Amino acid sequence: MPQPLPAGVCPCCGHDFDCTASLETDTPTLGPGDVAVCIRCGVALRFNEDMTVRRLSAAEWLRLSRLEQRALSDATAMVMAYQVARGGLQ
Ligand SMILES: [Zn+2]
Repeated sequence: MPQPLPAGVCPCCGHDFDCTASLETDTPTLGPGDVAVCIRCGVALRFNEDMTVRRLSAAEWLRLSRLEQRALSDATAMVMAYQVARGGLQ
């Protein structure tokens, strides 16, 4: 089940969102500092203290574990495959 969030906007593509879901669990419990991927453009995001999001920096990417980097890369690849199947970003 998606986790409700304050209304937010992807800083990369402008996609509006108000919830998040997880690839690992049906009951995500995201908090400040956690990372996510935009469902529209696939950019890696980090949650701020107020649960808005910002683009994950390169330095932050390098501090993630290999497992976290792999999970984000896989999620981005899935978003890109989905967007390609739909004919590109709508
Ligand atoms: Zn986006």
